[in-house]
Amino acid sequence: MKSEFFEISPSLLALADEAMEEVRTALERAEDIARYNTEKMLSAFIKNHASESKLAASTGYGYGDAGRETLEAIWADAMGAEDSIIRHNFMSGTHAICVALFGILRPGDNFICATGRPYDTLVDVIGIDKKTDGSLKDFGVEYRECPLKDGVVDITRLCNMLKDKPSKMVYIQRSRGYSLRPSLTVEDIEQIVTAVKKVQPDVIVAVDNCYGEFTQKKEPTEVGADLLIGSLIKNAGGGIAPTGGYIAGKKELIEKCANRLTTPSTGKEIGSTLGLSRELYMGAFNAPHVTGEALKTAIFASALFSRFGYEVTPKPNEKRGDIIQAVCLKNSESLIAFCEGIQAGAPMDSFVRPEPWDMPGYDSKVIMAAGAFTQGSSVELSADAPLREPFAVWLQGGLTFDSARIGILLAAQQMIDKGIIG
Ligand SMILES: *Cc1c(COP(=O)(O)O)cnc(C)c1O
Repeated sequence: MKSEFFEISPSLLALADEAMEEVRTALERAEDIARYNTEKMLSAFIKNHASESKLAASTGYGYGDAGRETLEAIWADAMGAEDSIIRHNFMSGTHAICVALFGILRPGDNFICATGRPYDTLVDVIGIDKKTDGSLKDFGVEYRECPLKDGVVDITRLCNMLKDKPSKMVYIQRSRGYSLRPSLTVEDIEQIVTAVKKVQPDVIVAVDNCYGEFTQKKEPTEVGADLLIGSLIKNAGGGIAPTGGYIAGKKELIEKCANRLTTPSTGKEIGSTLGLSRELYMGAFNAPHVTGEALKTAIFASALFSRFGYEVTPKPNEKRGDIIQAVCLKNSESLIAFCEGIQAGAPMDSFVRPEPWDMPGYDSKVIMAAGAFTQGSSVELSADAPLREPFAVWLQGGLTFDSARIGILLAAQQMIDKGIIG
């Protein structure tokens, strides 16, 4: 398929067509999942009597905001959970996870991360390396870590850790984040939940679901996880929510989290919506479809770049539990060209050129491409790459496959123009 609007070489277009052919079944599978989850979401809207009249802004305490209450019921149904909190007041995914951990855990408790070292931003929340002021460690919560074995969860070791000493919570990170391990599928999570509850029936299983929502037909809460947490500037906000996060799960746990987010006893009863309800509703409604578009983008990129001989993970036809696609591009020059191409194909800020920079907390330079309507949104097409071994770029998002396909093609075209690939 050639473009009337973008300069893409005929040989690249031919490869892109071959790539599309190779992954036809995987693309159809992504569309089937999006259709299924869109129907699930639509039925939750209907069941809970969503209504335009409930979208009005509340102010101050926000008591009795019917729009907020209805959306939380809709979201719980979409996640297959008893209850939920979905609000703009969560400032990031990390904040939502922090609220959930502090909501549930008490001084003297211990919890185990089943998926090795957690996502970077949580290290200081937990106080893993040092007793950061205000961290869980600072409040006397003990952290234990079950390292991954060959990139997957070591269930035997995890169960032994629980037998040694019971835990309040087992914490699972579903997405690969910015590592090369595979993401966990809902089936993988079910296996972990079943195993740990056999050892300790009352253990709370919490899942960091960032990047995972709607990538499969079930959510982890539908296979026994007790608590699910995510960000609204990723899959769950459908590219429309301007900020926010969610926690879904067992009613009594949601109440504890709400008491932490607001205050003990006001819980879910307060929180004005300030006119943001419409965007949160539309975001939730669009989220299954947009996630499908992002999945298709990842599948296409995987197929195209493996045709150029690069190592990709996941492989084009592999089962996916998140929207992230990693491509190992072998050197810095390739990473820079790739990110320049992605940026050039973005709807916003296409005219800026991404530059590697010394990002705080990293021991090497990092380059990022993001031309998004929402700052930091990574359900919009974006790419991040630390300039170090294994020279991998992590690519995610794409609000519409037709636009994101151009972004991917321009990334490859930039590499061709710089003589990196033929
Ligand atoms: C994005 C993400 C988070 C939260 O990050 P924020 O940038 O704070 O929204 C947590 N865990 C994983 C795996 C993530 O991908």
